[in-house]
Amino acid sequence: MIEVCVMPRVICPTCERAINNCLCQWIEAVIPNQVSLGILQHPNETKQVKGTAKIVQLSLRDCQTWVGEHVSELPTLQHWLADAQSVFLLYPKIAHQSEPFSEWHMA
Ligand SMILES: [Zn+2]
Repeated sequence: MIEVCVMPRVICPTCERAINNCLCQWIEAVIPNQVSLGILQHPNETKQVKGTAKIVQLSLRDCQTWVGEHVSELPTLQHWLADAQSVFLLYPKIAHQSEPFSEWHMA
């Protein structure tokens, strides 16, 4: 008989990485960014090992992250966008994108 002992992985509560991969010691200072940054993260991206959104969130003073696929389903993001004086979208290029961003709609 083979016994399997599964030890639960200890996760850092701050950077949310496995404790042996914790990045907190390298995130020393919070940058006082002048421009508010909002991140809309796809739900599938929350499990990514890289955790770039979390690192950015820990590194910048003014950064918020929303998880979802549609702005219309995220009322706090809608309020954040409505309160902003101007909003710029940074987004990776989509291969074979058929419509330009100017034709996208929030609802
Ligand atoms: Zn950590």
